[in-house]
Amino acid sequence: MDHFSFQQGVLHCEEVDVPSLADRFGTPLFIYSKRTFIEHYDRLHAAFADLNPWLCYSIKSCSNLSICRLLADRGAAFDVVSGGELARAMEAGADPGRIVFAGVGKTDEEIRAALAVDIGWFNVESEAEMANLASIASEMGKTARAAVRVNPDVDPQTHVYTTTGKRETKFGIDLERAKSVFAEFANKPGIAPVGIHVHIGSPVNTIDPYVQAITKTLGLIDELATAGHRVTAINIGGGFGAHYDGGEAPTARAYAERIVPLLAGRELTVLLEPGRCIAANAGVLVARVLYTKASGDRRFLIVDAAMTELLRPALYGSYHFAWPVVPFNGMVPPRRSADVCLDGSVRVDVVGPVCESADFLAKDRMLPPVARGDLICLFSAGAYGFSMSSQYNSRPRPPEILVEGETVRLIRRRETYDDLVSAERL
Ligand SMILES: *Cc1c(COP(=O)(O)O)cnc(C)c1O
Repeated sequence: MDHFSFQQGVLHCEEVDVPSLADRFGTPLFIYSKRTFIEHYDRLHAAFADLNPWLCYSIKSCSNLSICRLLADRGAAFDVVSGGELARAMEAGADPGRIVFAGVGKTDEEIRAALAVDIGWFNVESEAEMANLASIASEMGKTARAAVRVNPDVDPQTHVYTTTGKRETKFGIDLERAKSVFAEFANKPGIAPVGIHVHIGSPVNTIDPYVQAITKTLGLIDELATAGHRVTAINIGGGFGAHYDGGEAPTARAYAERIVPLLAGRELTVLLEPGRCIAANAGVLVARVLYTKASGDRRFLIVDAAMTELLRPALYGSYHFAWPVVPFNGMVPPRRSADVCLDGSVRVDVVGPVCESADFLAKDRMLPPVARGDLICLFSAGAYGFSMSSQYNSRPRPPEILVEGETVRLIRRRETYDDLVSAERL
């Protein structure tokens, strides 16, 4: 699943031991494995090869320029959700014709910037946005290729905050209304509604919701064809799972085995928007224990990383496997899972220094004994880790390191106190 492993009782990223990285770059610290990124991308590519799809890497999952460049070099297309992400994709050398732009609230300025570089597709989320996009594109003498984002009313059985394909969410247009959108905009200048986009949520660790959503969407495409509207592309979104709790995500091949037969032979360009399944297991967050503390029957490990570096536990109650980088007495976990409990473990909460009760990274875990100064690793932090980080409590953001074999590269330096205030010195 990744290239983070314990070798002689010490956590390594590929061939490099993690304590040496923590000494050299300080903590908290994000460490990525290049090999893991590439393998995850290549596995998806191979699994879906029969459809020859656009694999649009979802930049918001892990946005670092070097990571985007790495995937662009590998042939990835890109999924962006803001003008800032568009700028990143362009700087990373993405082919603009293979960029798709999603999001319910694109500003006029963002739409203009995307039209100016002739991006591949706009994923459009409402009638009002269609009208605005058509009018801006006409003004600029362009025609925007639009994929109408439909809301298939499928329950992906994931967290309510990351469910996007149910009727009650803010995303997309329901299937019935999608037909009238095609009727209304088919012949309007400035816009070519020739695609359908469907993204049901994330992470979706079962395949049935995809099958349901794609089947409903293909039904809509057939109905549209009957009404004289030819759809040429289907974008099935992202949301494929990652391994947070040791092996819960289906493999790329398992998703493909059910999805490819639905789409093969349909003469549709197929787009996917994977983020998490490429990035999550390719990165970890390393923190140092500042203090240990007991309060009643609870024991806390207070570490130097916080919700500012890894927001997912605070935001969604997400689970990240935590373990000491050099476990006491060689207590190496047999697998990365919530139910690992070795003799001599102690029950702890891993918390950060930020002034919020939601500032925890791992709760109620059985860990080997840990002392002040020890390093703790939070696994599967490559997706929605750094990219959701903030400077709350005026904490400079941590550095990001990319490891390839024995080679270590700093791909984002640690922010300084000066970075915290420089935009305010006017
Ligand atoms: C966030 C998002 C994705 C990526 O989701 P992952 O779970 O990272 O694969 C893809 N498409 C859209 C529209 C999104 O909002």
